[in-house]
Order: sequence, then structure tokens, then C-alpha cells
Amino acid sequence: MAPSRCHDVIVIGGGVVGITLARELSRYHLDVVVLESDAEVGFGVSKANSGIIHSGIHADPATLKGALEWPGNEGWLRLRDDLGFGFAQVGELLVALSAEELGTIEHLHARGERKGIPGLQRWDAARVRAHQPNLSRDVIAALWAPTAGVVNPYEAVLLIADNAAANGVEIATEQPVTAIEPAHRGEPDGPLVVHTPTRTLATRYLVNAAGLRADEVARMAGVGTFTITGRKGEEYLLDKRLAGLVTSVIFPCPTPTSKGTLVTPTFDGTIMVGPTAEATDDKDDTATTPEGAQAVFAAAKRLVPAISERDVIAEFAGVRAVADSDDFVLGATGRRGFVNAAGIQSPGLTAAPAIADHIIEVLRDEGLELRERSDWRPRAEHPVRFSVLSTREQAELAASEPGFAQLVCRCELVTEAEIVDAIERGARTLDGVKFRTRAGMGRCQGGFCTWRCLELLARCRGIPMTEVTKRGGTSWLVRDRDDVDAAPSGGS
Ligand SMILES: Cc1cc2nc3c(=O)[nH]c(=O)nc-3n(C[C@H](O)[C@H](O)[C@H](O)COP(=O)(O)OP(=O)(O)OC[C@H]3O[C@@H](n4cnc5c(N)ncnc54)[C@H](O)[C@@H]3O)c2cc1C
Repeated sequence: MAPSRCHDVIVIGGGVVGITLARELSRYHLDVVVLESDAEVGFGVSKANSGIIHSGIHADPATLKGALEWPGNEGWLRLRDDLGFGFAQVGELLVALSAEELGTIEHLHARGERKGIPGLQRWDAARVRAHQPNLSRDVIAALWAPTAGVVNPYEAVLLIADNAAANGVEIATEQPVTAIEPAHRGEPDGPLVVHTPTRTLATRYLVNAAGLRADEVARMAGVGTFTITGRKGEEYLLDKRLAGLVTSVIFPCPTPTSKGTLVTPTFDGTIMVGPTAEATDDKDDTATTPEGAQAVFAAAKRLVPAISERDVIAEFAGVRAVADSDDFVLGATGRRGFVNAAGIQSPGLTAAPAIADHIIEVLRDEGLELRERSDWRPRAEHPVRFSVLSTREQAELAASEPGFAQLVCRCELVTEAEIVDAIERGARTLDGVKFRTRAGMGRCQGGFCTWRCLELLARCRGIPMTEVTKRGGTSWLVRDRDDVDAAPSGGS
């Protein structure tokens, strides 16, 4: 039997695409729900990427990737103005290391100008060196694109989600969608019913933004017209002592499957090198490998010779969701009311705001009524970031609120008050605290603060430490001594 209440739109997937879409939908008089299988939003590939808002020059405008890259870039400026997450327009240099690569630069320059991207310039070697003195002497020319930016992707997704929720969107985590069926037999174009292990919901429109699993979700709705495969990318973060080594994103000339290995000054002051681009059959394979590290550092050193493996403080991998068309799969399907926002490989982070606009137009065409709300609130309430305050402001805050006098993460200067606030805002896991506050992201990678974060999670959530997880599911971090003692010999 169908549930009595019928939502207007359900979005499956709480990555940057689903969350940005949900926030845009919250502008209208609509009842919107996001269903996310993970313990928190943004735990998919949306947190495991290079964090670059691309300048707009990279993708072929004949594809959806290329058509939505530049409007997406412009959309991020509006999101940044509304929500104030970490974002800096640092520009990018796409460098040529050989005479053959000069043709690639010229091609991308001309294409970028046709796309209307402002500020593009061809620089000679002397100008490149004056701007980025640590680049290789082998660089003979570069394309300068000032519109590229770097963003804290996890912080952005969380603030977009908070703002969507403040505007009435229900964001339901730990809700993996397992089945989809028509609400009423004999009404194949009518509302849909969506099942998770604990809930059954009805909706008039269903958007599939399920990332690597979007092909499975489409099949559940009977419109499985595409397949998603994984393309893994490994990334390596270098110590903050190298801050300033490069001040813009450095791109090599692209390969047929990727933009190549980049050297990126992250918003938080580390240098990131990567990613690789390897096809993988295992969509959950986020392990880094010695081969990946070797490939990344060999390529990065060709651009910036001073880069060294010795400076690595953290490494991770993300898996791009690549559709068989090698393009985004966006739009209406054979099932009225079921809309795809799938196959969102790179530049999906960049394009997310434009993907949201595109899907809203598709929903309008499918009959969704869009009446703007007069009470929509674009701005988010901001958590305090103790580390960016002046010494005087820090002292005043610590004197007025004891929680700001207790330092939890020494590397990133995160206080107890910020961690408690993050948990009150919805962090449920150690990673949720980390991505909201940066506790554990510094040089010691949580060696000092993990235990304190676990204690605060347990205390604020009213659960034993043994129930706190790293990222949901069974990723517990602490075991009860009695369980360990009772384990059969040889058990762990
Ligand atoms: C190494 C790497 C570097 C990259 N760098 C950049 C970059 O610098 N700039 C850029 O623009 N792009 C970049 N990208 C691409 C970008 O990260 C992605 O395009 C973007 O994050 C895709 O967002 P998404 O919301 O579609 O996917 P996800 O973030 O994966 O979100 C999908 C969500 O759906 C949920 N889900 C799946 N199945 C179900 C289900 N059955 N029920 C409920 N929920 C479900 C998942 O748990 C997940 O949270 C990079 C990608 C990689 C791998």
C-alpha cells in the first residue's frame, strides 16, 4: 500500500549534485526529501576530489560536461557569496613542456574564448616564471585562466545541506534506496514509491543523483539505459610548510582520459598533488597504491621539481562515476517523473550548480509547478572558525566561553566549542566532525585529537564510545575491553 503523504520531489543521493539541487528546489513551495545511504552527506566522491572549480576551458562544449562547466563556475561564486565556505579564485596555469603541447594550449585558448570565459591569456616562459618561480625551467609557455578557484568541497557540501535543511528540505541519512515502484498499479506515469530498509515514501518526482550507483537506481525504476564504471584517482596532500610553493593551480596538457596530474594550492594552505586516472571494477576501491604514488610524484615533479614524497601528510582516492557515453547523463527518462543526474564525473564538482539549474528546468518541463517562496533564506548561519581569528579575538572568545579555551586539535587550532557545535549541527561520525571543523586534518592526522573527538561525540550524542564510528556502518573505532578479552585466541 502506498504511504498517505506524497512528496513533491525526492532526490536520491546526498553528494554535491543532489544537495545543490535540493537547495535550489527549496526556493519554491515544494516538499523535498534527500535520501542518502551514508551516515552523512558528502561522504561519496564529493569529499574525495581535487577541490578545483575549473576555469571553464577544459571540457568540450559539444558535451554536457563542457556546456555546464563554465555556468557551474559562475554558480559557485553565487553560492560562495550566499554561504561563505572556503573558496578562493586563485587562477590556473595550463603549461606546455614541449613544442607539440603549444598546439594544445592554442586550441584550449581559442575554445575558451568561444565559450566566453574572461581573462584568458597566453604567457611566455618569462612571465610564467615571474608568476610561479618554483615551476620547472622546462615550461616554455602557459595558458593563464584567472577564473579557476579552489574550494573546500566537504565544507561547501555541508553548508549547502545546512542551508537546504534550514529552508525546509528533509535530509535523511542512512537511507539506502533499495526499490522503486509505481504508487498505483495501472498508473505507470503516476507517483512513485521509494523503499529503504526503514522507510517507504511516495513522490511525484524522483531525481537519481546516486553517483557510482546511479545505474543501479535507474534499473530499479525500470529505465536502466546506461552503465556506470569507476575511474579511480589518487591524491596526496603535502605539509603546510610548503604553502606558497605554487599559488595557482598548475595543469599539464590533458590526456584523452584525464586532465593529468595537477599541483594545487588547497584553500587551507596545503599543496595537493594528483589525481591518477585508472579504470577500476571495484566502485568502493579507495585505496592508494605505491604505483599510484609513483605516477603522481613523477608527473608532479615534472611541473614543480621541489615536490617530494617526504612531505606527504595524508593520501586518499576517489572514484569517478563514468557513464558509458563518457558524458553526464542528465534529464527525463522513459518513466515520467523519474529524472537522471548521473554519470557525474569530473568536472562534476564545478558543474554542480549548473546541473541543478538544468534538472530544475527538466522537472518544470515534466510538469512540476515552481512557485517561488517569499521567505526563502539564501544565507547560512556560520560556525566560528577559531583558527582564523586574530589573537585578540581568540583571547576574548576563550575568556567569555570556556569551550573556546580548550584546544582539541593542536595542528589546526580547533577548540572543544567548535566540535560541540559541529555535533549539534548534525555531525554523527568522526569524519563528520573532521570535515566540519578540520580537527584531525593537520600534520599529525588526528594522532593527538582523535580520542578527544570520540569522547565529545559519545558525550554529546549520549552513546557509548564503542558505538561511535569513523564514517558510519561498522567503522567503529573503540572496542569494549570485555569483548576483546572474550575474543577467541587469534581473534582481533
Ligand atoms: C580524484 C578525483 C578528483 C576530482 N577532482 C575534481 C575537481 O577538482 N573539480 C571538479 O569539478 N570535479 C572533480 N572531480 C569530480 C567530482 O568529485 C564529482 O563529479 C562529483 O563529486 C560528483 O558528485 P555526485 O553528487 O554526483 O556524487 P557523490 O558525491 O558520489 O554522491 C552520490 C551519493 O549517492 C549516494 N547513494 C548511492 N546509492 C544510493 C542509494 N541507493 N540510495 C541512497 N543514496 C545513494 C552515495 O552514498 C553518495 O553520497 C574529481 C573526482 C575524483 C574521483
